[in-house]
Amino acid sequence: MAQKAQSPRDFDAVVVGAGFAGLYMLHRLRGLGLSVRVFEAGSGIGGTWFWNRYPGARCDIESLEYSYQFSPELQQDWEWSERYATQPEILRYLEHVADRFDLRRDIELETRVRSAHFDEVTGGWAVETDRGSVSARFCIMATGCLSSTNTPAFPGIDRFAGPTYHTGRWPHEGVDFSGKRVGVIGTGSSAIQSIPLIAEQAAHLFVFQRTPNYSIPAHNAPLDPAQVRRVKADYAGFRAQNSQRPFGASFPVNEHSALQVDAAERAREYEARWQQGGLGFFTSFNDLILDRAANDTAAEFVRAKIHSIVRDPAVAETLSPRQVIGCKRLCVDTNYYATFNRPNVTLVDVSDAPIEEILPTGLRTARATYELDCLVFATGFDAMTGALLSIDIRGKAGQTLLDKWAEGPRTYLGLGTAGFPNLFLITGPGSPSVLSNMVPSIEQHVDWIADCIAYLRAQGRERIEATPAAEDAWVAHVNEVAGMTLYPSCNSWYLGANVPGKPRVFMPYLGFPPYVEKCNEVAAKGYEGFALG
Ligand code: FAD
Ligand code: NAP
Repeated sequence: MAQKAQSPRDFDAVVVGAGFAGLYMLHRLRGLGLSVRVFEAGSGIGGTWFWNRYPGARCDIESLEYSYQFSPELQQDWEWSERYATQPEILRYLEHVADRFDLRRDIELETRVRSAHFDEVTGGWAVETDRGSVSARFCIMATGCLSSTNTPAFPGIDRFAGPTYHTGRWPHEGVDFSGKRVGVIGTGSSAIQSIPLIAEQAAHLFVFQRTPNYSIPAHNAPLDPAQVRRVKADYAGFRAQNSQRPFGASFPVNEHSALQVDAAERAREYEARWQQGGLGFFTSFNDLILDRAANDTAAEFVRAKIHSIVRDPAVAETLSPRQVIGCKRLCVDTNYYATFNRPNVTLVDVSDAPIEEILPTGLRTARATYELDCLVFATGFDAMTGALLSIDIRGKAGQTLLDKWAEGPRTYLGLGTAGFPNLFLITGPGSPSVLSNMVPSIEQHVDWIADCIAYLRAQGRERIEATPAAEDAWVAHVNEVAGMTLYPSCNSWYLGANVPGKPRVFMPYLGFPPYVEKCNEVAAKGYEGFALG
């Protein structure tokens, strides 16, 4: 196993990123007695919750679940104020975690990792940042599935005279839209959360929609103290129960097909879920992502809701999605559809008349020109692979990850990739990641990686690498599972379809509870599918 660090810039492990994943990884590795350095490009810790400060940003998995469980004391002590915490509250929580576990002394902020090269001689990684170089036996990418922002290359984008903002890089001091004509491009989760609040401030808001999205009301509210007491009385039991459910969240499971019950029963179930609010709508029946006819019943229910909320039937129709519900990530909102009843909000359909140019004073679509004072890009992320591939990662024989993944990401369990020894990915492509409650998924990966490193040490091993055969089989399995679902049927970021030129491969793995069993089994069999050296 790795000898003790030789120089101040030689570590047992380097971790890239200081969000939920990087912070917990640091904590676990320190617990093993390893020397660790975390590099974070941002000027603060928190990852997603550091960068996404747009109005209305909050989680869409309930806070009692969207939080760490590794420390029973932490989960007992921390008091969430709302069902879905806001971005400032989640960031405060992560700041608290960093302080409580004394993490900051090993984190270098405002430090971007530019490259990571495997060194065949030392069997470790040479990591170069914009502030210097380090070496480490293990390199762990906690770079985030949704951290590399996507801004479409609209012609003229640099000529816009007013301020522009991306939801994923929001100014810390906030933005005052009072009296302004604002354009929001995009109608994904970030747009759907921010539009109602921007509309309350702006003189006029133009929403440029390419694809409408399904959104379920959050029914957010202060947390009920009785519910908190109930959960805290047996937090471990609550977590254990959720870990056995689809997506690793507490959504009530219904074992019936939507087509097994009559229309009245379906309507009753959908209405109950709608009133309950949140992503649990998607587990109304067990086949919504498997069967188009079943899916249509849920989609039709939401379209009817949109028509019942939005007064202008033409606007309601434009807001009504036609793709499979859940194919793009379902959104959770507060007053999204009702916002289009406001006189100062205009919905602009750019599906058949795309944005052609940004002008100094606004933007021009194929149909009309809009005068704007500020522009908000709610245009999402180069998801799952963007942050990884923007680092020059080279494995054995100098092979670049960019080359290896030219046709789409290839991993074993989303944790490692053949040809890149001692490189771990947290919630990498090929793992449940974004198709699950991400905090438990992050913890599961971090624990697996930490246990793996502890095992290597105990066995006197220095090196672990996914075998090409295990990787091929896993990639085939991930694709096979995706192929049995309706997920590949629309242009989602799960498929890379939002970034021009990105290979179209379904990147996450659907199957949260069985996946964990598989990872445990692999470990129990001495890391089956990995070559140890
Ligand atoms: P991140 O939080 O993305 O952190 C990665 C960090 O790595 C970033 O700070 C980044 O700056 C840093 N980094 C990347 N590349 C480099 C580099 N080369 N050098 C140095 N640093 C680098 N998931 C849910 O399950 N439920 C939710 O409710 C939910 N809400 C979300 C809301 C928003 C607005 C967004 C964008 C995502 C949401 N997600 C949600 C997904 C969310 O990203 C994860 O839940 C989780 O926060 C990811 O944590 P992470 O540590 O893996 O990655
Ligand atoms: P997103 O879902 O990818 O949405 C981006 C939007 O921009 C889409 O409406 C997209 O339209 C549009 N767009 C992109 N390029 C465009 C172009 N050239 N012209 C016109 N429109 C364009 O991104 P996001 O809203 O930031 O959300 C990403 C993910 O982060 C979510 O799915 C979710 O997992 C997470 N998130 C969660 C929450 C939460 O509620 N907790 C909030 C925000 C984000 P098309 O659909 O046509 O591509």
